[in-house]
Amino acid sequence: MIDCHTHLWRVGEHVGPRFMESARRCWGATDAAMDVSPDRHTAAMAGTEAAIVLGFHAPHVDVVVPNDYLAAYCRQAPKRWYGFASVNPVEAGALDELRRAHEELGLPGLKLGPTYQNYHPMDRRAFPVYAYAEAQGIPIMIHQATTFPRESPLQFALPLQLDEVAMRFPELKIVLAHIGHPWEADCVVTIRKHPNLFSDISALHGRPWRYYQALITCVEYGVTDKLLFGSDFPFYTPEQTASGLRGVNRILEGTALPRVPDTVIEAILARDPLRVLGLRV
Ligand SMILES: [Zn+2]
Repeated sequence: MIDCHTHLWRVGEHVGPRFMESARRCWGATDAAMDVSPDRHTAAMAGTEAAIVLGFHAPHVDVVVPNDYLAAYCRQAPKRWYGFASVNPVEAGALDELRRAHEELGLPGLKLGPTYQNYHPMDRRAFPVYAYAEAQGIPIMIHQATTFPRESPLQFALPLQLDEVAMRFPELKIVLAHIGHPWEADCVVTIRKHPNLFSDISALHGRPWRYYQALITCVEYGVTDKLLFGSDFPFYTPEQTASGLRGVNRILEGTALPRVPDTVIEAILARDPLRVLGLRV
């Protein structure tokens, strides 16, 4: 397994009290469950061949994982960890910071979350960052899906907003996280149109009915070859995610509903997100 969606952050140092307050209120988060030390990340990824590790620059919701911190961890095992830097693309200096993170720190990808960073994905000020990423072959992991922090505008979280970004930057590789939940159908029709748009299946199996509908929608629209395996650790482990995926049809017992084919499930587990995103040949 290669996990395309994992977090590394310390509660207190990187994840602040405002974010934790929303997380506690909406889904009962605890500091211990959310806190991901380097040792805990390494242990949780023991069953994977490699993982994408995401930075997070979102002071708007009280979460900042510095690119230097991420890079220091990834440097310890360059073949295992692929770090995605994070910048707020509408802030002054964002392009310089991305260039530094890419060229000097060696971080191969970029993590964005417009709803966490409080900007519209089509904000013109973000274009230089998109253009640089497109020209340099830097893939973007973007959280275009719902979320829980009180300060996150959901109007910036809609998957359809990536349609126009992809039309303007057609060579830019973008992963829309979490099949755009709960706007899965919008995510599916968007990634279907654009050769360089993908999605990951992370953090969805805990809602079995939505998860089934998301995957069967992907089957019906023919986009399962664009789904990447990811856990969203610490929200789930890779093993929990794999068993949730293999168990997606369990709720169908006694019904005539269509099954997500086993071949589709095994193909998601076998697919190499690093190769899909051009991070290795
Ligand atoms: Zn995540």
